[in-house]
Amino acid sequence: MTATVIDGNKLADELSEQVHEQLRQLKISGARPGLATVVVGDDPAAGAYERHVKRLAERLECDYANEHLSDDAEVADVLAVVGKLNADPRITGILILRPLPPKISEPLIYRALDPYKDVEAVHPENAGLLAQGRPRFVPSTPASCFYLLDAYLRSTGRDPVAFFPGTSLVVVGRSDSVGKPAASLGLQRHATVTTCHSRTKDLGSYTRQADVLIVAAGRAGLVTGDMVREGVIAIDVGIDPVEDPETGKTKFVGDIDFDSVAAKAEAITPVPGGVGPITDVWLIGNAVSAAAAALRVEPRFGVSL
Ligand code: NAD
Repeated sequence: MTATVIDGNKLADELSEQVHEQLRQLKISGARPGLATVVVGDDPAAGAYERHVKRLAERLECDYANEHLSDDAEVADVLAVVGKLNADPRITGILILRPLPPKISEPLIYRALDPYKDVEAVHPENAGLLAQGRPRFVPSTPASCFYLLDAYLRSTGRDPVAFFPGTSLVVVGRSDSVGKPAASLGLQRHATVTTCHSRTKDLGSYTRQADVLIVAAGRAGLVTGDMVREGVIAIDVGIDPVEDPETGKTKFVGDIDFDSVAAKAEAITPVPGGVGPITDVWLIGNAVSAAAAALRVEPRFGVSL
């Protein structure tokens, strides 16, 4: 089987045109969506992602602000920044960038967010609504997985609504930001969902059951061709740094061993160029949804699955 490689960049371009147009329309209605990121400390990955989100917000003409606190910031300092952003009418979406320094409790900061500005659904109220199948915001990375899946299925003439019931969906990873919400979204679609994690024994015995496989483990090349069945649709969330043996420089690969899995899969997402580009646009789309909700002009604005 020769797998179709699902082109996340192309789909992200289409989605960003849609979000850009909605932003324009929303501004005509008098709203100004604005996204804020909060970075604490000097983690290079958080810094790089912050600059990336800033560029994208600028490209889509979405107002953007960043709050950067130093490594020695106390919990009270972070809570004060969150309180300021909660109260700022120019900010409709807030993203807390991970990792936070160890002394800053993530759950405590998440609980302090205004749930109506919590575009990544990390506040317990939003995580609960998502788990109950009534999401206020669908977090960007798991949303991106299903956006890719839906687009791919439609491109092959299949209706995603009819496809998922009875399908075996295996999710590898159980983080609050990716694995758990991806499993919830699969359940909402009536897939039969199995979640695997670092303590799962014999991972391959589960992944081989998958009609659809979503891997978000942060382990380069974890899932290999012998761990999947013929005809699987494989979505790779991982962005894992490895040293390029030829150049000695760092490059990024996925959690799926692309060549061996592609040899058996019906379709597969590449890294880079799969899940990542849609994730970023989705985040801005959620800030648009939040601004529209504040104006009570839902559901015409914002991205949805
Ligand atoms: P995380 O570290 O919070 O969670 C990883 C999960 O994988 C855990 O639940 C863990 O139990 C599981 N796991 C780890 N090793 C495993 C193994 N050997 N077998 C089975 N399960 C295992 O990570 P995360 O935030 O969920 O991110 C996962 C990956 O996705 C990372 O590579 C991250 O960089 C990437 N990511 C990509 C995007 C994107 O837009 N493409 C967004 C967020 C995260």
